[in-house]
Amino acid sequence: MKTLGLIGWRGMVGSVLVQRMCEEGDFNRVNPIFFSTSQNGKAAPILNGKASGILQNANDFDSLKELDIILTCQGRSYTKKIYHKLRMIGWSGYWIDASSVLRMEEDTMIILDPVNYQAICDALEMGIKTFVGGNCTVSLMLMSLGGLFVNNLVEWVSVATYQAASGGGARQIRELLNQMGMIYNHISQELNDPSSAILDIERKATEISRKDFQIDNFNAPLAGNVIPWIDEQWENGQTIEEWKGQAETNKILKTTHIIPIDSICVRIGALRCHSQAFTIKLKKDIQLTEIKNQIAAHNSWVEVIPNDRDLTLKKLTPSAVSGKLCIPVGRLRKLSIGPQYISAFTVGDQLLWGAAEPLRRMLRLLIK
Ligand code: NAP
Repeated sequence: MKTLGLIGWRGMVGSVLVQRMCEEGDFNRVNPIFFSTSQNGKAAPILNGKASGILQNANDFDSLKELDIILTCQGRSYTKKIYHKLRMIGWSGYWIDASSVLRMEEDTMIILDPVNYQAICDALEMGIKTFVGGNCTVSLMLMSLGGLFVNNLVEWVSVATYQAASGGGARQIRELLNQMGMIYNHISQELNDPSSAILDIERKATEISRKDFQIDNFNAPLAGNVIPWIDEQWENGQTIEEWKGQAETNKILKTTHIIPIDSICVRIGALRCHSQAFTIKLKKDIQLTEIKNQIAAHNSWVEVIPNDRDLTLKKLTPSAVSGKLCIPVGRLRKLSIGPQYISAFTVGDQLLWGAAEPLRRMLRLLIK
């Protein structure tokens, strides 16, 4: 049985990963050792009712180099600090990573096996040992529209994202919920009085969001607001989040000609599901029914939602999809700009397919 070091398991992505590994019985197939950068010596988590030992020091190279597989959801500074040094001292195990640091390096694979299973197998054959989860919106786009990409139907994509607070981490979710609570507490009296003026209520809510919200993590109010900027600035006016769309998608698909993908990435007050609205130019004019068939046939998780009001409200929203592995895609229609142009809207749980699930499935490939 292979020895697996789990790092970053206490965080948001790591907790979802451990939960999924328990659900799928993955811990019966490995010998897990839990690490922490801050809690070593304390008790490791209880898995399926059984204690799993003592937490090891995640910065201790002597312990790390004994591992067959390292799976880290700890974040970019940990990867930057540990990965190259560990390789330099001769560690040749498998490294599976949630952070973006190593994604674009030449000898690494971005993993999303429903889309690039064969490429992952080829990489394993070639001796590649470093596998990195993709950016959440990229993975969710490819899970929803993979059928169009793998059938070489996409000429370009323009995306507007609606990204949940969880994409920033646990503190960001707390910040959003605190802001929501503050608004309610501030206006609850007027809200419960049917005779109060709605514009007075709105003004009080807007005022408190401008003056009193804690915005340490998002740097702008999120409750009652949208933030059209995610991550650092890149060249040409894009943000890094926007740059990743094209760069990572083309790396995952191993395209010989770049498929242009551009976006405006926007943070909204959803909790853990990212949504995306697409305008897509297809390489040829094909029937909408054929488009839906190609999308639906691509993987077991995608679900085409008819372009119908009730079904859209029931199935194509963050609150409907949160905590689920399904990837609904709807609002599919031909656009009035021309027969090769279509729209689509998708929602996905960004902690599952957007983060933890591709890592878990990579681990499963290694231990099968
Ligand atoms: P996170 O919640 O901030 O957790 C990261 C680490 O913080 C934990 O493993 C833990 O490490 C430490 N920590 C300190 N105080 C904690 C507390 N009170 N509760 C839990 N952990 C605490 O990070 P994350 O959002 O899971 O992201 C991890 C990595 O995944 C990042 O590289 C991120 O870019 C990537 N990623 C995230 C998402 C997302 O949706 N958030 C999506 C895709 C990829 P110690 O045990 O060592 O203290």
